[in-house]
Amino acid sequence: MKQQICILGSTGSIGTQALDVIRQHSDLYEVYCLTANNRVELLAAQAREFKPAAVVIANETHYGRLKELLADQSDIKVYAGAAALEQIVEAGPVDMVLAAMVGYAGLAPTICAIKARKKICLANKETLVVAGELITRLAMEHHAPILPVDSEHSAIFQCLVGEDMNEVEKLLLTCSGGPFRTFTADRLAAVTAADALQHPTWDMGAKITIDSASLMNKGFEVMEARWLFGVPADKIQVLVHPQSIVHSAVQFADGGVKAQLGVPDMRLPIQYAFSFPQRLHLDGRRLDLFRQPLEFFEPDLDKFKCLALAYEALDKGGNMPCVLNAANEVVNAAFRQGRCSFPGMAHIIEQTMQRATFEAAPDYDTYVRTDAEARRIASELL
Ligand code: NAD
Ligand code: MG
Repeated sequence: MKQQICILGSTGSIGTQALDVIRQHSDLYEVYCLTANNRVELLAAQAREFKPAAVVIANETHYGRLKELLADQSDIKVYAGAAALEQIVEAGPVDMVLAAMVGYAGLAPTICAIKARKKICLANKETLVVAGELITRLAMEHHAPILPVDSEHSAIFQCLVGEDMNEVEKLLLTCSGGPFRTFTADRLAAVTAADALQHPTWDMGAKITIDSASLMNKGFEVMEARWLFGVPADKIQVLVHPQSIVHSAVQFADGGVKAQLGVPDMRLPIQYAFSFPQRLHLDGRRLDLFRQPLEFFEPDLDKFKCLALAYEALDKGGNMPCVLNAANEVVNAAFRQGRCSFPGMAHIIEQTMQRATFEAAPDYDTYVRTDAEARRIASELL
């Protein structure tokens, strides 16, 4: 029986690479549902190729156009709206849900998929940043496995196979350092979105590429690792590794370190999340260790203030990571539109963290309230 996959965010960077994995293993996997927000033409083209049972366009204004594009595909059901995303992940035939939407919007459908006991392949790290405690508790209660898709977390997950978590001394989380790794503070003040979108090693969606340049992405990944592996932040060390060859590593009680290496290609962690505990063949480049040195540096928390703010939010706990995420979504978008400077992003996030209402023991409704409040504060500060 082929595994039935629902892809939340099939038109994005992760989504399209996931479809390439499925294309290579059409004997094992089948697409049950494809979803997108705005890219209706691409969604329709994907649907024509993969013949899913359903497609969902989150932005309802595109519903008519999608219906029109798939008018001759009578076997494909077409839905629209955020509520439809929450319903489709629960469909009986779905075995796995690839959460590859970007941002806070991924939280609600991921919770629905967990409650429906689906296997979750998680790329949408914002879900764990915002509500890590809630998500991990729900996953335990509903016996829904969460498989990491983020390359660093997949690397750590691969290193932990066959190991005892009690023997883990620390996690070594690598970070490319982004395009501004060697910039002075003065130069950083003048960088533009176009500069930031030139990532040295990975080709990703726009939002995460900006987060990678500010190192907010690495702060998010510390939180993601904290929740996925149950390891406290003081046992998660960030190492700047410009070559992006060592995807991350684990240090054990006997001093041994296991790392996972490879060329930067997200299809491997996507495929591993699908196929675990099996490893499958994957076409593509192979690592040539003769070609380059492997370097490691400490991150500069003064220059890259977003990483320091993420540590602060994690330390504070409660709804503070949700505040951090919401403020970051606002300033990230503003920076891309030229309405906020690069150092301005950290400044506004910090101010939002000071002004938002702190709640020590949040539930789902708290996150909804906090997200709205923090977005409002950050927008006012812009
Ligand atoms: P992207 O911008 O390329 O794609 C985002 C996808 O989500 C698109 O299909 C879009 O239609 C959909 N989407 C966006 N907003 C939506 C909404 N409100 N409702 C429904 N659908 C919506 O982003 P990406 O780079 O593929 O990243 C997706 C997620 O994976 C992010 O959380 C990111 O942090 C994470 N991630 C990405 C990479 C990577 O290499 N791209 C690596 C690690 C983790
Ligand atoms: Mg990553």
